[in-house]
Amino acid sequence: MPELPEVETVATALRPHLVGRRVMRVCARVERLREPLDMQALARLEGEAVTAVYRRAKYLLLEFAGCRLVLLIHLGMSGRLRLAPVCHPLAGHEHVDWELDNGNLLRLRDPRRFGLVKVAEIVAPGDLPAELDGLGPEPLEPEFTDSCLAAACRGRRRPIKNLIMDSRVVVGVGNIYASEVLHRAGIRPGIPAGDLRPARIARLVVAIRTVLTAAIAAGGTTINDFAGVDGREGYFSRELQVYARAGERCLRCRRGCIRREVLVGRASYYCPVCQR
Ligand SMILES: [Zn+2]
Repeated sequence: MPELPEVETVATALRPHLVGRRVMRVCARVERLREPLDMQALARLEGEAVTAVYRRAKYLLLEFAGCRLVLLIHLGMSGRLRLAPVCHPLAGHEHVDWELDNGNLLRLRDPRRFGLVKVAEIVAPGDLPAELDGLGPEPLEPEFTDSCLAAACRGRRRPIKNLIMDSRVVVGVGNIYASEVLHRAGIRPGIPAGDLRPARIARLVVAIRTVLTAAIAAGGTTINDFAGVDGREGYFSRELQVYARAGERCLRCRRGCIRREVLVGRASYYCPVCQR
C-alpha cells in the first residue's frame, strides 16, 4: 500500500509535469472506486490549469486555483499513477485518465479499487478542502511535537502501534512504517499507549520523523518514473528493518528473531529482544 513517503515521492515527481498544464479531457472507465466517481464534477476540471501539486496525509492534491477546485486522489491499497502519451495503449485496471494539453495523460491504475478520486471546492488558493477536515498534524512539520503525541497517549489503553496509525493523532504513518518506526524507537507495538513515559514518547517522535524522512529521500533518489509505488515492490522495501521479516535475525541487536503479531487486524513485526 502506498504510504506517506511514496505519496510524497509521487507528488514531487508529478509536480514539474503537471503544474501549468491544462486538463483537456477526463475519461473514467469504471463507475466507482472506493466511492462512486462523480463524472459531472470531474468534467468541471476540463479546460482548467493545474496550479499546484502537493500532498496532505496520504492524499495527493491537484489544485486548480482558476476555478477554486481541488482534485483529491488517494491511492488506496494498490493505486498508482503514471504519465504517458495520450495514444499509449491501455493495460489492465487502468481506470481514469486526465488528458493534458501537451499530448500526455495522467493515468490511474488501481486493481483493487480502494482508491479515491474526488473533486472538492476550496475558497482560496492554498486552502484545504473540507473533505480533509479532522486530520491530525503532518509528522514532518513542526506542529507534530512530543507534547502533542503525549497528550494523545495519556490514559489510553490501545496499543501504541494503532495509536500512531490513527490519522487524528498524526497522519501518514501506515502499517508498514508503524512497525519500522517502533523498531527504531525500541518500543513494542502492543504496549498500551498510556504506559509510555515521556522519554520514550520523545524517542518515538524522532523515530517517526527519521524513518519517514529516510524513506522519502530513498524514493527521491532512486525513482525514475512513477511505477514503483505499489505495495512492497520497488525502492523502499530495501530499507525495511522488520516489516515482513518474521523469523529473520534482527538487524539492529543481531540477537532477536523478528516476530509477527496481529494487532487489531493488522500484521505487526517486532524484535522481542530490543523492543520493550
Ligand atoms: Zn533486536
